[in-house]
Amino acid sequence: MTCISRFAPSPTGRLHLGHAWSAVQAHALARPRGGRFLLRIEDIDQGRSRPEHVAAILADLAWMGLDHDGPVMFQSQRMPLYAAALDRLKAAGLVYPCFCTRADIAREVAASASAPHGSDGPIYPRTCRTLAPDVRAERVAREPHAWRIDMARAVAVAGPLAWEDAHAGTVAADPGAQGDVVLARKDAGVSYHLAVTVDDAAQGVTDVVRGRDLFAATHIHRLLQALLALPTPRYHHHPLLVGADGARLAKRHGAPSLEAMRLAGEDGRALAEEIRHGRLPLGFGLASA
Ligand code: GLU
Repeated sequence: MTCISRFAPSPTGRLHLGHAWSAVQAHALARPRGGRFLLRIEDIDQGRSRPEHVAAILADLAWMGLDHDGPVMFQSQRMPLYAAALDRLKAAGLVYPCFCTRADIAREVAASASAPHGSDGPIYPRTCRTLAPDVRAERVAREPHAWRIDMARAVAVAGPLAWEDAHAGTVAADPGAQGDVVLARKDAGVSYHLAVTVDDAAQGVTDVVRGRDLFAATHIHRLLQALLALPTPRYHHHPLLVGADGARLAKRHGAPSLEAMRLAGEDGRALAEEIRHGRLPLGFGLASA
């Protein structure tokens, strides 16, 4: 099967070396074997996405010689497709509307003696899961709301699932630990989890290359693939880049952006070539875990 990989940045900031590490690996996985390398701009967060970040992303990739196949996909142009996927889950009774604010959830979690935690902190206490159907219908009509997966039901419907990870081997999916995650945000109409699952399938992606910080999310994506009858790609969750102080690049302040390196006249193609050989600029390394 032809390898189809992708790079899927969110244009909410400039790219840094960690992104270069990911993009070069995705490109290198597909291209030497006659495969395709796709680019998807994950701009569902209209409040934080900026056209100037998109322009910088395109310039950074060109600077590194990472040309992509076909047109760039923009998630902001695909809202009807996400709504259709959500409708299927609604029809199957696998999602429910949630009216809670962050403050409501924090209050509820603080009040409970043993709030279970997932990979992103305390899991949703399912407050809106138990609303009476008539109350729910009335509030949906007049209040802003998110849509959450009914995780217990979804896991029961889907049965046992697994995926293949190039680094971790066969992984048994365990989405339940993350609770009733949001599939459609109040403000955006869709969430990362639903958009990425729909789009990887729509683009025919066979190999997802991304950082280990998204490993836990793959449990949810695998479940959504099963519920929406979509294929499961192979996953390559690579270690994250760290600076000399051992801190993750994404959270570091002062790590140079690719744009800054480009504008300083550094050689992007040489950088990509170094990365292809597993070498990083001085002062940068890979996190061990
Ligand atoms: N858009 C996500 C990010 O920039 C990555 C999505 C993915 O690779 O699945 O963190």
